[in-house]
Amino acid sequence: MRDPVVIAGGGPGGLALAVSLAQQGIGVTVLERDKVLARDLRAGSFHPPTIEMFDQLGVGDAMRTAGIRVPHWQMRDRVEGIVAEFDLGLLAKDTPYPYRLHCEQHKLTPILLERLEEFDNARAHFATRLTSATDNGDHVMARISGPEGDAEIRASYLVGAEGARSIVRKGLGIEFEGFTWPERYLVASALYDLSQHGFTENAYIADPDEWCAIFKMPHQGGPGLWRLAFPIPPEIPDEKALELSFVKQKLAGFVPALGTANIPYWSIYAVHQRVAGTFRVGRQLLLGDAAHVNNPLGAMGLNSAVHDAINLGEKLGKVILGNRSADDDLLDLYARQRRGVAIEFVQAMSIRNKRLLEERDPVLRKQRLDEIRATAADPAKAYDYLLRTSMIASVRRAAEIT
Ligand SMILES: Cc1cc2nc3c(=O)[nH]c(=O)nc-3n(C[C@H](O)[C@H](O)[C@H](O)COP(=O)(O)OP(=O)(O)OC[C@H]3O[C@@H](n4cnc5c(N)ncnc54)[C@H](O)[C@@H]3O)c2cc1C
Repeated sequence: MRDPVVIAGGGPGGLALAVSLAQQGIGVTVLERDKVLARDLRAGSFHPPTIEMFDQLGVGDAMRTAGIRVPHWQMRDRVEGIVAEFDLGLLAKDTPYPYRLHCEQHKLTPILLERLEEFDNARAHFATRLTSATDNGDHVMARISGPEGDAEIRASYLVGAEGARSIVRKGLGIEFEGFTWPERYLVASALYDLSQHGFTENAYIADPDEWCAIFKMPHQGGPGLWRLAFPIPPEIPDEKALELSFVKQKLAGFVPALGTANIPYWSIYAVHQRVAGTFRVGRQLLLGDAAHVNNPLGAMGLNSAVHDAINLGEKLGKVILGNRSADDDLLDLYARQRRGVAIEFVQAMSIRNKRLLEERDPVLRKQRLDEIRATAADPAKAYDYLLRTSMIASVRRAAEIT
C-alpha cells in the first residue's frame, strides 16, 4: 500500500479533495483539529459549476435536497430600491443547474464526511492537528498531535486545507500576499420573509455608508431564514456590534420590520484579500482558504475551495496512479491554474463587488449603477456578466492556463 495523501483540515475544501481521491482508490487521511465538524455561520451560496462538482463527488442529490434553488438575484440601491435583476436561466445552455444553491457550509461538510466514510481507503481523525511537516524528497513526514499524543505520519503528499492560518503555508515560508479590510462584517439571520418586500432570495444593497448582502437559507416551515451581511466600522468594538439590540437596530435600517423579527444567529468576522505566493512546494500543496481568502461579496471563497479540490484531485489522482514522470508538471499546473484564477477572477471580482456597493463618489456611484442596469437590460451583456459572476468563466479560464 502506498503512503496516503494526508490532508490537514476537515473543512469543505479538505473533505472535497478527500472524497475525490478516495473515489479513485487512493489512500487518504484527513486530520481535523477540532473534535467535530465546524458548526458556525459561514458561507452558504453555491454557484452552478460547484453544484456540478457535487455530482462528481457523489453528493449532488444530497446537496440539492438540503438546499434551496435561487434562480434570480437583485442589485438594489438603499434609497432607490431595485436597480437590476438577473435571471440565471440565461445560463441554461451552459450548465444543468442555472441557479445558485443556498445551503449552509455546515450542512455540506457532514454530507461530504458521510460520503468519505463509504470508502475503506479513507480515514478522518478528529481532535488531531498537524503541527509541522518535512519534505524528505520521496515522501513527506507530517507531525501531528491528537488524543493519543504526538505522532508522525508518512505521506506521499501533504495538502494544507487547514484554513487561512495554514500551518503548511507558514511552515513553507510562503507569503500570504494582500491586505485586510479595516471594517469587519456582521452576519445576522432573521426569521422574517423578505420576499414580501420584493426581495429575491439573493440580493445586494448598495449604500455609501452601509451596504448589505442578503441570502435566504433553507429552513423548515415559517417565513424562512434570511441572512444579512453588512459592514461594521473599525471604531465599533466587537462587544458592541454583537449586542442584540445593536444588531436589530442595524437590521431595522434595511427593512424596519426586521427590528422586531426573531434573530436566531449572528456573528462578526474580519475580512481579508490574500493569495499565497505559490500553491505548491515539492510534495506539499495548498488549497481553499489556506491558499486564498477574499471578501464574501459574490460568494466565491467556499466555491473556490471546492474548485481547487476538484482540480487538485484530478491531477493528484493522475500523478499517484499514473505516469510518475508527469508529477511536477501536473502539480505545478494545478498551482498555476488555481492561483491564476484566484488572482484574475476571485480577488478582482470580490474587490470590484465591494467597491460597487460602497462607492461614495456620487458621480461614479451613479455611473456604476447605471452600468449594472444597462447590463441587466441587454440579454447578451447579462449573459456575459452571469458567466463571470456564476464562476463558470473562472473554471473555464483555469482549464485554459497551461
Ligand atoms: C468566521 C468566518 C465566516 C465566514 N463567512 C463567510 C460568508 O459569510 N460568506 C462567504 O462566502 N465566505 C465566508 N467565509 C469563508 C468560507 O467559509 C471559506 O472560504 C471556506 O470555509 C473555505 O473552506 P476551507 O475548507 O478551505 O477552510 P475552512 O473551512 O477554514 O476549514 C479548515 C479546517 O481546518 C481545520 N484546521 C485548522 N488548523 C488545523 C491544523 N493545524 N490541523 C488540522 N486541522 C486544522 C479547521 O478546524 C477547519 O475545520 C467565512 C470564513 C470564516 C472563517
